[in-house]
Parts: sequence; C-alpha cells; structure tokens
Amino acid sequence: MSGADGYSGHGTSASEMPPLNPVPQQSPVRDATVLRPAAFQDQAVGERTLEEPVAPAPAVPTQEVTVSTLDEEVVLGPTGRPLPVFPEPSPPTAHGRARVISMVNQKGGVGKTTTTINLGASLAEFGYKVLLVDFDPQGSLSVGLGLNPHTMELTIYNLLMQRDVELDEVVVPSGVEGMDLLPSNIDLSAAEVQLVHEVAREQTLQRVLAPAIEKYDIVLIDCQPSLGLLTVNALTASDSVIVPLECEYFALRGVALLKTTIDKVRERLNPRLEIDGVLGTMFDGRTLHGREVMERLVEAWGDTVFHTVIRRTVKFSDSTVAGEPITSYASSSSGADNYRQLAKEVLARWQRDA
Ligand code: ADP
Ligand code: MG
Repeated sequence: MSGADGYSGHGTSASEMPPLNPVPQQSPVRDATVLRPAAFQDQAVGERTLEEPVAPAPAVPTQEVTVSTLDEEVVLGPTGRPLPVFPEPSPPTAHGRARVISMVNQKGGVGKTTTTINLGASLAEFGYKVLLVDFDPQGSLSVGLGLNPHTMELTIYNLLMQRDVELDEVVVPSGVEGMDLLPSNIDLSAAEVQLVHEVAREQTLQRVLAPAIEKYDIVLIDCQPSLGLLTVNALTASDSVIVPLECEYFALRGVALLKTTIDKVRERLNPRLEIDGVLGTMFDGRTLHGREVMERLVEAWGDTVFHTVIRRTVKFSDSTVAGEPITSYASSSSGADNYRQLAKEVLARWQRDA
C-alpha cells in the first residue's frame, strides 16, 4: 500500500524514544532487604550484574524481588512495578462470542508469531477454545505449528478471495487440544493487491471470521510486519491489540506511527478497538541495557505495559523447529511460564474492562 491511504510507512525517528531519566542515586530495591523468591534462585541472575564494573544501581530490578517493608511484603516485577498476583483462570462455562486480538508491530522479529502461538496455547491449556489466524504471507505461524506451506490445499487466501470457500473448510487442528489454526502461505501476498479493488476492502477479514466468533472464545491474529491493508483488515476485525516490543534500544522506534494507525482505524472503521497492552519480549534482566529499555517502556506507556515480560531463551527457536508451542515442547521452562502468566494477565485485564 502506498502512503496515500495513510496505512503505510516505516520506522520514524529515534526522537520518539523518551529521554532516559537519570538513574536515582539510591535504588529503592537496594535499600530494602531483598529476598530472592525460590523459583528464581536457579537463575542466579543478580551475581553477574554485581561483577560488572561501575554499573549504576538499577532502578528496575533484574528479576522479581521481594522487598520487605515495615508492615508488608511487596513483590517488584521485572518492569520495576509491584507485581500483582493474577488469579488462576477458570475455564469458561459456555463457548462463543469470541474476543478477537491482533498481535501488531510493523517491525519484524519482535515476537508477534511466538506470542500468538504461545499465548494461544496457554489460553487453550486454561480451557478456552482458541483460533489462531496466520495473517502473514510468510506463514511463520503455520510453519511454527508444523505445517508445510507447499502442501496446504486451502489457506486464508482462499477464504478471503473466494466466496464459495467456507471457514470450516480452511481451519485445521493446531496439534494443541482446544486450539485451531487458519493457515496461510505466500498466496496471501496476492490478496493485499487484489483486495484494493474490493468493496469494503478493510472489512474483508472481519466478514470471513464472523462464523468463528460464534464458536471460539478467543481469536488471535498474527499480523505481518507492516501497517498495510492486511494489518488494517486485522485491526478492523479486532476488539483489541497486543503490541510485542523486543527489549532492545530501538524498540520504541515506529511505535508512534503504529499508535496513529490504531487511532485512525478506531476513528474510521472500528470504534471498539482497544490496546490491551504492550508486551516486552526477549528481555534479559542480567544486562543494564535490558533494564534501561524496560524502564523507558514503562515511562513511555505507563500501565499499558504488561507486568509480564517474556525472557530471552533459545528454547523458543528450538520449539519452532519442533513445530509446537513452548508450553508443550518445554512445558516447565521459564518461557512456558512467562506465557502462562501472560495468559492470566490478559484474562484479568479483560475481566477488569468488561
Ligand atoms: P515476529 O513474528 O514479530 O517477526 P517472531 O515471533 O517470529 O517475531 O520472533 C523472531 C525470532 O525470535 C524467532 O526466531 C523466535 O524464535 C525468536 N524469539 C521470539 N521470542 C523469543 C524470546 N523470548 N527469546 C528468544 N528468542 C525469541
Ligand atoms: Mg511473525
């Protein structure tokens, strides 16, 4: 798509990065008695940091820490804010009336596909009926769930472009109980061009997903790394958006443009569209850099930032090669735990906003 529609465009300037506040002289965490929760002892994350020369006291803790104050214990999460306890979800009593959520960031490699697979698998573990929608012509979501892009008979492309193809014909099992997949491959890139000539071109995905809303509890759409017509279709079909951001220096580049796109879609096409949250991915709490980026994310986005962060671990690429979510490939890994916690946090946010 060209910029004329206002959908397109790439990264904007680094001036979007908010200024980094000077690190406080005295870290509140260091002043207090710090206890490591048992679950994190094996990571021994703090030790390496202490060996680093002249690192200023981090305002953001390297990991969950318990700070004992006079009359209560406060657990600070990896984002530097007190970590709430998210309730254990109970399975829904009836299925249907799905909430539709898009994973959006026009940057590639930030964890959109990984979040779609693993948040979906975690929600399915909690008893929700989940449909994953691969809306990226690269088909990484489909490949990440073990599908071969060359042998797919029908994909979301057929559903979008052919009136006689129905949702049920295209949906396939994902290999995870309770979770299905609408697959995609490179054919979808043609849809972006062909849709330009359609009537109600922005509403095409919403129209074809309508039968899924009746059957599933949650529909997660994995967007392509662009703000073009496919992504605008995803935003138009969605109740809300999750923005994964890699915890590295240029993470916030382009985020202003993404926000503008979401605002435009809300104004012109979909008034119910909300931002569920910004998710820090590939977080490395052992480095000062990782903690600084997290601090900036919270400065820029405040409570929109999920308390849950996804730590960097090679288990994610291993599970992609295996063609399954980390929640089944390495069920007791920290990566699987991070996504289960994210599932609890999003469920808690939705209930709060309901
Ligand atoms: P996107 O869909 O935004 O392009 P992906 O989810 O495909 O991003 O992630 C890009 C790469 O980073 C993949 O190889 C994936 O396995 C890897 N990855 C994603 N999340 C993590 C993580 N928390 N730790 C380590 N590697 C990760
Ligand atoms: Mg992807």
